[in-house]
Amino acid sequence: MRLLGLTGGIGSGKSTVSADLAARGAVIIDADAIVKELQQPGQPVFASMVERWGQTIVAPDGTLDRAAVAAIVFSDADELAAIEAIVHPAVQVETARRIAAAADQPGSIVVLDVPLMAETAKKERESGRAPSGSRHKPQAVIVVDCPTELAVDRLVEFRGFDRDDAEARVSRQATREERRELADFVVDNSGDRATLDAELERLWAWVSELSEPTTD
Ligand code: ADP
Repeated sequence: MRLLGLTGGIGSGKSTVSADLAARGAVIIDADAIVKELQQPGQPVFASMVERWGQTIVAPDGTLDRAAVAAIVFSDADELAAIEAIVHPAVQVETARRIAAAADQPGSIVVLDVPLMAETAKKERESGRAPSGSRHKPQAVIVVDCPTELAVDRLVEFRGFDRDDAEARVSRQATREERRELADFVVDNSGDRATLDAELERLWAWVSELSEPTTD
């Protein structure tokens, strides 16, 4: 098994790259999707969150009210730490389960899609905390990169974002430089679709050449 990380700012084209890797046979483990699954009613993570914050975070249809959660944790570091303490360990367990399932397939290429990889690395640096031991460390990291103005334009044009909202989201994230510092391979998505297709060929050639780490 080869285990890779994939990250990129919002609007960079990360989902497009991830879909291409999946089409070429990679197993994608999507951190955001796992969080959403674990926060479904009936899941222990959902129960722990309701235990802590009560019915204010439950929408009328019984599902998690994400906007209410965001409002609570957005501006309060303690609340944010509390939600992370509930969600992160469960995400690690589920990620480990999916990696183990993929590891059974010889020659598999597993891609951990982690939107906030650079933000997490920065937090860990600033707090002096070592990266958590349970974290699954990819052997190489792929970063999808494009100018932030272009990411905003794409979010507005193709994904229906309001321009101010898109700009605010992009500016709250890690910078391009912070993300690129993590990269073993940069997918340059500053061009048109044909240019991206050429980048994706280059990426897959690189991925295919990676050797499987030896286990000891
Ligand atoms: P992310 O997952 O990083 O937020 P997406 O992959 O969803 O970004 O890309 C944002 C939007 O831009 C999508 O609608 C996607 O189809 C489009 N897009 C991505 N790359 C290009 C490109 N090189 N040229 C034109 N449109 C693109």
